[in-house]
This record gives sequence, C-alpha cells and structure tokens, in this order.
Amino acid sequence: MKYIGAHVHVTGGVENAPVNAEAIGAKAFALFTKNQRQWTAAAYTDKNISLFKERCREYGYSPKHILPHDSYLINLGNPDAEGLEKSRTAFLDEMKRCEQLGLELLNFHPGSSLKKISDEACLERIAESINQTLEQTRGVCAVIENTAGQGSNMGYTFEQIAYIIERVEDKDRVGVCIDTCHTFAAGYDLSTESGFVETFDHFDEVIGFKYLKGMHLNDSKKGVGSHVDRHECIGKGMIGLTAFRMIMHDSRFDDMPLILETPEEEGWAEEIKMLYAL
Ligand SMILES: [Zn+2]
Ligand SMILES: [Zn+2]
Repeated sequence: MKYIGAHVHVTGGVENAPVNAEAIGAKAFALFTKNQRQWTAAAYTDKNISLFKERCREYGYSPKHILPHDSYLINLGNPDAEGLEKSRTAFLDEMKRCEQLGLELLNFHPGSSLKKISDEACLERIAESINQTLEQTRGVCAVIENTAGQGSNMGYTFEQIAYIIERVEDKDRVGVCIDTCHTFAAGYDLSTESGFVETFDHFDEVIGFKYLKGMHLNDSKKGVGSHVDRHECIGKGMIGLTAFRMIMHDSRFDDMPLILETPEEEGWAEEIKMLYAL
C-alpha cells in the first residue's frame, strides 16, 4: 500500500500538522519541527506534544509515515569548526523534538563543503555528525536526502550517500529519502521506463532498498543533469508521469511516506488523488 501526502504547515503549533494533512486526504505527511529558517525555537509544550500524538492517532497517521524535515540552515559537513558546532547542536535539538513527538524519522540534507574542503572530507564530517547525534538520542533514524548537487552540496550521487552510510556506526538508525526532482536534476534520467529501471537498480546496488525510508515526489522544472533544484507539479515538468506511474506500481515504495513538495499547495488534494488513480 502507498502512503502519499505532502509537506504541511505547522502554523499555530506542531499539533496542526495532522489536521492539515487530513484536510487534503493525505495518508502520510512531512513537517518542519521548527521554523526552517531560524536557528532556535521555543521548546514544545506538553500540550503541543499530547495534542500532536492524539491527533495522529485519531487520523490514523503512524510514525513510520511521518517524515519531519530539518532546518535549511544546518550544514553537518561545515568546513569551519564554529559553523559545524552550531549545526550539530541544532540537529541534535531537532532529533530530540522528533523523540518528544514519538516520531521515528528525521529527514535532512547531508551538507555542503562550501568548496573549502574535499568531497571526502565533507562526507566524513557528515558521518561523524550523524554518529555524534545518534549517540545522544534514541529511536529516531537519520534520513539522508539526496540533492540536486547545486553549489557545493553533497549527496547528489548514490555513491556519496553510500560513503556516508558506510561510516555510520548504528546502521539501524540511518536511512535515505529519495527526492525524484533532485535525482533527475543530479543526472539520473527517471523520465523513461528504462531510465527509471536503471536508476533504481543502481540505487539498490550502491545503497540498497533496505535503507529507503521515504520519497519526495516532485516533478522538475529543469532538465536532467541541470543540478538546479526547482520543483514542478506532478506530470507538468521534465520528468513527466511515467516515473510516478512506475513508483505507484512498484512494491519497493510501499509502506513509506511519499511526500509532495510541489509548488501549488492548493492543488495537493487533487495531486494526491491523481497519483492514486495512476
Ligand atoms: Zn529536502
Ligand atoms: Zn528540492
């Protein structure tokens, strides 16, 4: 069974996320655990936490179908010590917020070398950041999202993600989220049947489907290999419907959050219905 949803707002409190998800007919959802453009945020109150849990139960959202996303400011591969420390502290706070909400996953962008250190050195820092965070927390899995490879962002090849995973000590608490737009922009051509098959065979060989914890379903405004991260509505971009139809018919994508981050929020309810109809 497929669990499709979208990245919903938490305006007014984290407990509103399941309400917003339910309103669009989502069977899964993503959320920010705090403002994604600020370093710090007020702690959750007991009321936030209990209402969030209560509503998730009421609407039937299980923790494995909820995919929190970390702040855009965090860079777990930051080449300078001060920036790295700040990022690690903020990431730990996000993990703890997920723990408080009873969640199991935290999706994050691996990090960026800022062109000051080698790719390998950056990937090693990211792995070390994950190890340090996992040591200080329980139960939440660090879910690495692949990127489009814009600027000096790491994680645009499956090999880079595998390189990080190899260095993570607790393999049970590390996973991967594949964003279809980022994959395509990074150079994997998902737009054709053969390209789709090849890409996910390669994914299985290099990383392994056992690490796949969720997907971001986005079409792409820019072409294959463009390294530009611009999401488009499903079927309206350069990827096209074939890839999404193939995902819907492939049991390897069952029982995990499949999250829309497409640009037209008003269209999410329809987009979810359209995907199920495929
Ligand atoms: Zn993301
Ligand atoms: Zn993106």
